[in-house]
Amino acid sequence: MKKPYFILLLIVGWTISLRAQSRRIIDVHFHTRSAGDYGVPPPPNPVTGKMPDAGTNQAILTHNLALLKKYNVVKAICSGTLLRNADFIAQDPKRFISSLEYPDHQNNPLPDTTTFKKLIQDKKFVVFGELGLQYEGQTLDESEFEPYLKICETYGIPVAVHTGIAAPETPFHGFPKFTIAAGNPLALEPVLKRHPKLKLQMMHMGYPYLQETKAILNVYPQVYADISVINWIVPKEEFYTYLKALMTAGFTSRLMYGSDQMIWEDAIPRSIQAVETAPFLSEKQKQDIFYNNAARFFGITPP
Ligand SMILES: [Zn+2]
Repeated sequence: MKKPYFILLLIVGWTISLRAQSRRIIDVHFHTRSAGDYGVPPPPNPVTGKMPDAGTNQAILTHNLALLKKYNVVKAICSGTLLRNADFIAQDPKRFISSLEYPDHQNNPLPDTTTFKKLIQDKKFVVFGELGLQYEGQTLDESEFEPYLKICETYGIPVAVHTGIAAPETPFHGFPKFTIAAGNPLALEPVLKRHPKLKLQMMHMGYPYLQETKAILNVYPQVYADISVINWIVPKEEFYTYLKALMTAGFTSRLMYGSDQMIWEDAIPRSIQAVETAPFLSEKQKQDIFYNNAARFFGITPP
């Protein structure tokens, strides 16, 4: 390679890396995992092969926090048990926001509705999710969730639902009830009709159900989609094609950055870089996806 081109490439790379580090980001799909959640020893990152930092709960927290600071992720919505979320919030109360995950890694049942309401009033969580109901072959439309949805609608608590697919062989590794059909975004429609004021976060932007995702976003303006996991786990061209299709369809203002790093911290820089280097995104569109859309959806005001 000729020297001037090499220097130019260096400058471009340097500019991208500087911008990634100075940009203000909200991660709307951040998990507060504990050591042992994915088994001992934990599996390596399925894409990078890197082993997670799984030594202790404190090491996981410290490593994740360092990466969030490095990439200027100023807010992270913590999907996890309230107990584990509290560890993260105690460490950095301005950065972390608590979200009640269900089902969780400790197999905690849903709190009864009186407790659920009290937890909201006490601000123990401000988002309800990740709801990984698909892993149990369930959808949000089932009657047992209805009283919780009513409460969330009344209190303005966004509900965050896993949609789309999951890892290969999911039904054969711990989730025998899992079905692809339960992750179809169309399964959300009855809930959206019953609860027109309910704010709903369609996690993983419904991938790979593109038409269904477009249909839901088109008809129900209270739905936003997060771009998590697809931004680091599927081939980049496939992520770009899907994201671009939703942008072209006019939903730029309702797409939100999330990492869904699970136990693999290296997914945080990887997913940020995928958005940062997307050739079809303008600077304004990147800022909307990284920060503005989530700030509007969750009512986050600048620090
Ligand atoms: Zn998910």
